[in-house]
Amino acid sequence: MLKNLHVEMVEVGPRDGLQNEVTLVSTADKADLIRHAIDYGARRIEVTSFVNPQKVPQLADAEQLVAMLPHRDDVTYIGLVLNRRGAERAIAAGRIDELGAVCVTSDSFGIRNQGQSADQSLAAAMEIVRLATAAGRSGQITIATAFGCPFEGEVPIARVVDIAKRAADSAPREIALADTIGCGSPAQVAEMVGRVREAIAGLPVRVHFHNTRGTGLANVWAAVGEGASTVDSSLGGLGGCPFAPGAAGNVPTEDVVYMLERSGITTGFDLQKTVKAAAWLADRMDRTLPAMVSKAPAFPS
Ligand code: ZN
Repeated sequence: MLKNLHVEMVEVGPRDGLQNEVTLVSTADKADLIRHAIDYGARRIEVTSFVNPQKVPQLADAEQLVAMLPHRDDVTYIGLVLNRRGAERAIAAGRIDELGAVCVTSDSFGIRNQGQSADQSLAAAMEIVRLATAAGRSGQITIATAFGCPFEGEVPIARVVDIAKRAADSAPREIALADTIGCGSPAQVAEMVGRVREAIAGLPVRVHFHNTRGTGLANVWAAVGEGASTVDSSLGGLGGCPFAPGAAGNVPTEDVVYMLERSGITTGFDLQKTVKAAAWLADRMDRTLPAMVSKAPAFPS
């Protein structure tokens, strides 16, 4: 079943993980989280987003944080943006190597999440990729709510395939399928990853899962089995979405690393260091985080 012997992982804790946290985390702590991620092996990190600070106060310090990022030629720093203004901010901030754009599958979610209809969000995402490319950065597009919408329910796979095909015209680095509300099932994931890969031949597929209903890891496994090249995760399983009711954290970095590495798939991540960093993060957040591997004894010891 396996098509991959190596899977690239993107650490999204600093952005997706933190954005739903009510307690404001200091910029210095965010920079520490990113340093930990580099230390445990992350080479692509979603560090922040350039959105309206009033809507996401946790990430209002984007520019200050970017100024504190370690200078590393081997690390790709990703900034999430939703429109031209955000793209211009991210590019001006310097040291953001990659712009992450987001389009959605339904008007009802798009209006609430980012004030755009589904078509408007796709047009904006494609413009962001073009702006990134013109500025010498890379750009990628995430299709949010690809596996289900909190307001409209089931999302037809054909709709997602169509969006992916259109998105590919802007020549992004990759297309990501995101289960924003954590409702996807492994069979659905396998079918969608397979069909999207066919439709955008040659472009890599990244996947982004939330563990809201406990299917996160199974979905990662299904996606990797169908050739998804890259998996998003957040340290400790931190995360949620302020505009998606009941959304839980991302799939935990250490749980994904454990599952893949024990299955003979390399990630480049050091599990022990990841678990240590998760303990540091739980301490910073002053609560237990959802990841399982961090709570269990090391195996093999
Ligand atoms: Zn997410």
